[in-house]
Amino acid sequence: MKEIFIDKSRLEDIIKEIPTPFHIYDEKGIRKNIKKLREAFSWNHGYKEYFAVKATPNPFIMEILMEEKAGFDCSSYTELLMSKKVGSSGDDIMFSSNATPDADFLLARQMGAIINLDDFTHIEILDNLCGIPDTISCRYNPGGEFKTTETGNVMDTPKDAKYGFTYEQIIEGYRLLKEKGARRFGMHAFLASNTLTNDYYPVLAEIMFKTAVEIKEKTGISLSFINLSGGVGIPYRPNEQTNDIMEIGSRVKKAYYEILKPAGMDDVAIFTELGRFVLAPYGALIATAIREKHIYKEYIGLDACAANLMRPAIYGAYHHITVMGKEKEPPVYKYDITGGLCENNDKFAVDRMLPKIDMGDLVYIHDTGAHGFSMGYNYNGKLRSAEVLLCTDGSHKLIRRAETPEDYFSTFDFSDKYKY
Ligand SMILES: *Cc1c(COP(=O)(O)O)cnc(C)c1O
Repeated sequence: MKEIFIDKSRLEDIIKEIPTPFHIYDEKGIRKNIKKLREAFSWNHGYKEYFAVKATPNPFIMEILMEEKAGFDCSSYTELLMSKKVGSSGDDIMFSSNATPDADFLLARQMGAIINLDDFTHIEILDNLCGIPDTISCRYNPGGEFKTTETGNVMDTPKDAKYGFTYEQIIEGYRLLKEKGARRFGMHAFLASNTLTNDYYPVLAEIMFKTAVEIKEKTGISLSFINLSGGVGIPYRPNEQTNDIMEIGSRVKKAYYEILKPAGMDDVAIFTELGRFVLAPYGALIATAIREKHIYKEYIGLDACAANLMRPAIYGAYHHITVMGKEKEPPVYKYDITGGLCENNDKFAVDRMLPKIDMGDLVYIHDTGAHGFSMGYNYNGKLRSAEVLLCTDGSHKLIRRAETPEDYFSTFDFSDKYKY
């Protein structure tokens, strides 16, 4: 059974003040989890988690993560601004972007963020824009298929991914960057997403560590940091196992001492950029069952829709659902749980076995703490929901209000004609 971090009566309190739908986050769980992540990599002096802001771009959440010593991985101009707002700067920010606009490069450079170049051609572009900074990172794409072992499962296909430098390009890239004045170098790679195995980081680390040794041999450049990026997954389904971050950390350590240390590279800092692993389980979308219909199938309509949580609609992703207060009732009803978009893929669950749902029941959609609210949109004129923080002391705080029609109209409010 999947756990819920808030019970029905506490939720009912909150709803008196903040109507559904909203995403709620569990501060206690977030802190406990990120502490454990830090512990798993405590063997590495320079270790740092750069939380992927795109997963949960909320300054209140970011402040919590900053207190837990995290930096931020930003993918855009606005995410850079948000990191600046919460007081982060310099080496505490990683800027990993692709098809990067000039303005984004300039802001990242101005903030002293570590720029992680997505492509060989960006070296010249950055140099012409604002010069190459002392510290620079390159994103590596080894191509081919990413497998956990020689004969093992294919986890992803980097050769089809738009990101990063090829092997030849990255070697040449470091040479060129050095020539242009860079002095401190890093490498980044993100080769598989939402992995549910302790193998991903260790196998990735092995590839990157071996490449780092080759870079040293071929260019004389000894990397200062290796960024394992994101990709450690979480068990969305109740029968799936949680990744063991302690084991992952110790297996990365083993590869580090087997590959980097003999090459005289035992001072390389390890970075991570986890979004999902750090936050997904500590957020939930709370909605109310407002309509039911009985046609060829049984439908329950919620006051939330795919505009509040897009993953099921676009990836067919599974999100567990708990009907609040009915945790112990047998799941003997088969429902499609839907939102109200005029899109037939707006279903949070299809053929899901659940206890009987009555109108007004509160529904807890699990694991929306990352890539949940942040992927929201305004299709059908639907408005983005509020975000609420369940604080460590048990109190709650509104950390983003729900959008209003006024917000929606504000971008074409050029004259009084369309004023809301
Ligand atoms: C999305 C992203 C992450 C975070 O990925 P998760 O799957 O949430 O761990 C990290 N780094 C980069 C560059 C990303 O684009």
